[in-house]
Amino acid sequence: MGTKNSLKKYRSKRNFTTTGEPAGRKEGKGRQPIFVIHKHDASSLHYDFRLEIDGVLVSWTVPKGPSTDPREKRLAIMTEDHPLEYADFEGVIPENEYGGGTVLIWDRGNYRNLMNEGDERRSMSQALDQGLLTVWLEGQKLRGGYALTRTTYRSKKDWLLIKMKDEEADARRNPVSTQPKSVKTERTIKEIATEKISAD
Ligand code: MN
Repeated sequence: MGTKNSLKKYRSKRNFTTTGEPAGRKEGKGRQPIFVIHKHDASSLHYDFRLEIDGVLVSWTVPKGPSTDPREKRLAIMTEDHPLEYADFEGVIPENEYGGGTVLIWDRGNYRNLMNEGDERRSMSQALDQGLLTVWLEGQKLRGGYALTRTTYRSKKDWLLIKMKDEEADARRNPVSTQPKSVKTERTIKEIATEKISAD
């Protein structure tokens, strides 16, 4: 993950003449890394949590979406890296394409690598290898520390996404259900699906 050829799998699954999704190019330097959470209404509704690491979006599928309650552990299944421009993608993926369905930008913003702020400093790719990431999100819906930890229960692709205990933790909030709209266009999944266009 996060290596030079890590978009191979992403590209091999898609036909870029029929899908509006980006094919992927090089990263930009000298700015804070971004995160994005896509809400994806495919064969089942889920959320895709993506962190910019080494020029690509390292991605996890989170079936229930993120929580703001530190007691909630949300399963996060690692999927293939996506190109950085995918962070801006919102729209309808043709049904005959991989991941066909409707994609909404549920939240996005910059993040900080908290693993790089302690005594034992780790880059995001080192932390990824070791199976424990801690990040500070500066989103419009989600803020504060989140931990992603790899489990070994079933497969190497299984991680847990957990809100860290900090001033942004809030067990009473449930943004997945109370704030369903796109932070990019204010649209719902249904509106995006019926408009059949990816608005900018
Ligand atoms: Mn998805």
